Amino acid sequence: MNPSREDTRVAIVGGGVSGLALATFLHLSGVACVVLERRERAYVEMRQRAGVVEARGVRMFERWGLAERLLGGPVAQSIDYRIDGASHILEMAAEDGSPGRFCTQQMLVNNLLRELVDARAGDVRFGVADVVIRNDGEGRAQVLYTDAGGAHALDCDYVVGCDGNRGVSRAAIPHGVLAKTSHEFGYAWLAALVEAPVAGHPVMGVSDRGFVAQLPRGLQRSRYYLQCALSDTAQDWPDQRLWDEIRLRMGDAAIANVVVHDKEVIPLRSVVHAPMQHRRLFLAGDAAHLVPPTGAKGMNLALYDVDVLGQALVAAVREGDTRALDAYSETVLPRIWRYQEFSAWMTETMHDAGDPAQRGAFRRMTARARLAALFDSPAARRLHGEFQRGTA
Ligand SMILES: Cc1cc2nc3c(=O)[nH]c(=O)nc-3n(C[C@H](O)[C@H](O)[C@H](O)COP(=O)(O)OP(=O)(O)OC[C@H]3O[C@@H](n4cnc5c(N)ncnc54)[C@H](O)[C@@H]3O)c2cc1C
Repeated sequence: MNPSREDTRVAIVGGGVSGLALATFLHLSGVACVVLERRERAYVEMRQRAGVVEARGVRMFERWGLAERLLGGPVAQSIDYRIDGASHILEMAAEDGSPGRFCTQQMLVNNLLRELVDARAGDVRFGVADVVIRNDGEGRAQVLYTDAGGAHALDCDYVVGCDGNRGVSRAAIPHGVLAKTSHEFGYAWLAALVEAPVAGHPVMGVSDRGFVAQLPRGLQRSRYYLQCALSDTAQDWPDQRLWDEIRLRMGDAAIANVVVHDKEVIPLRSVVHAPMQHRRLFLAGDAAHLVPPTGAKGMNLALYDVDVLGQALVAAVREGDTRALDAYSETVLPRIWRYQEFSAWMTETMHDAGDPAQRGAFRRMTARARLAALFDSPAARRLHGEFQRGTA
């Protein structure tokens, strides 16, 4: 049976943070778009991930006039770098008055859905399957997909792949067009979502037993991250082992066991696929790049891609001016590499400085010297703060 045919300006594959933010911007700008999301809405609404929208993202939502509606949460002020149990508080508050905001990715996604779908009747189609992108001819592009109603074909001017690292968009680009540059750090994080808020400041900790962090995930919850072996699974970390290890690495015997909602092992790696475009198909967010979570930049880079790409798509569709679209990769890749550098620096410093088995005594001492410079040198602290806030 022939698929039903429809037409739009921009088809967006993936309704995570990048796809929904891009669709909201296009909608506000009067550019017709359709989001195709393989999961059901309830699943998308429940998914827990990142926690801080940095200053650049806050300014983007302010420009759209939606910052107050999309970003709840208090202003992000400081981080507790806990070295062998001793706290070093680094301020994140920006001198230019543009700090980041603690807003979980889940909260942002929910607010985007309310704004785009419920308030503005934006077109987000959940539960789609078998997405195929046709982007090979001189003419317009086409996205094929199926849902409970059958097979569909969506003709469009442009397709944006916002479908994460395991989506179909990147694979739709012919072999040989993209170059993959990647790095494996050789260890993983056990991520545990728990029913307890961060008591003081968010913590990034170093101890002989390895890295530990506690970051806010909403007002009632937080997520602990513990460095672990790449071969570990969540089953290797029963709750009692988790809490014993948290107390030791945080240097705080008073931390109580509370409910653990989920545990996941995340290998730490950096990946960039470039260029982030081919003919009428553009990649944004995790579909194009992954950063290790140490720098908390994944969601923020996704928002940065969407900011640049959204404006370029509006210029192309509304004014026929494709210059910014043609230059999309060139425009965003320098920032992506700066954030890769910052995230790799943070990752190596925080892990080398901890467990001496990681990279040996010499690396341990040089990593600790880097951390000491961070606490003692105003210049090092300023640069670090600019990266943390996203004003670098
Ligand atoms: C545990 C964890 C902690 C993190 N912590 C942080 C942090 O503290 N700070 C930070 O900035 N970043 C963090 N990140 C990274 C951040 O969550 C990602 O960078 C961000 O989700 C990227 O957004 P995205 O829209 O590109 O991809 P995603 O959020 O992955 O969205 C992709 C969407 O595409 C859909 N999809 C996939 N395949 C298809 C298909 N074939 N057809 C249709 N739809 C499809 C998916 O269902 C999903 O909804 C973390 C990530 C994880 C996993």
